[in-house]
Amino acid sequence: MKILLHICCAPCATAVVENLRTDGYDITGYFYNPSIHPWKEFKRRMDTLKEWAPTIDLPVIYSEEYPLEDNIRMLLGSANRCFSCFSDRMNTTAKLALEMGIEQFTTTLTVSPYQNQNLLIKAGEAASDIHGVQYLYRDYRNSYRRSIELSRGLHMYRQPYCGCVFSERDRYLKIKSPGQV
Ligand code: SF4
Repeated sequence: MKILLHICCAPCATAVVENLRTDGYDITGYFYNPSIHPWKEFKRRMDTLKEWAPTIDLPVIYSEEYPLEDNIRMLLGSANRCFSCFSDRMNTTAKLALEMGIEQFTTTLTVSPYQNQNLLIKAGEAASDIHGVQYLYRDYRNSYRRSIELSRGLHMYRQPYCGCVFSERDRYLKIKSPGQV
């Protein structure tokens, strides 16, 4: 079974790839995360994935564009910026899956106990309806510790905030983002 896996970062991907492969999935990864700020952080997360993915024979497609103005406009124009951010990532992944003839898609965001899983499901299912590709929802939060173990063992870079400039600020002010629990 083929699946297109949206990858938010390499540390989260470690445990999700392990789970999906155990379940027999043939995975293609997709790094698409235009909300990550600043560009150096975006590059660092992408480069961490680029170093690790070949070591486990994981093919990954990288979206290297950095449409900062469009992204900030999208986040500011939304009633819930995290829902827009999830929806953008799920829609773009579902669209690519359709173009590639892959029947299912999912995301590594499902391993994070900090992300609002209901919002993720809503975004994934809406993208599935639009593009006609099945959204595979698996709650991988019970593998979060495993992802920490694996990524620390590999000396991977582990980021200290979700991604956008707002979350970079909020970590210091101890404010929860609207898509976090
Ligand atoms: S906090 Fe995370 S999910 Fe929410 S908008 Fe920022 S990057 Fe996206």
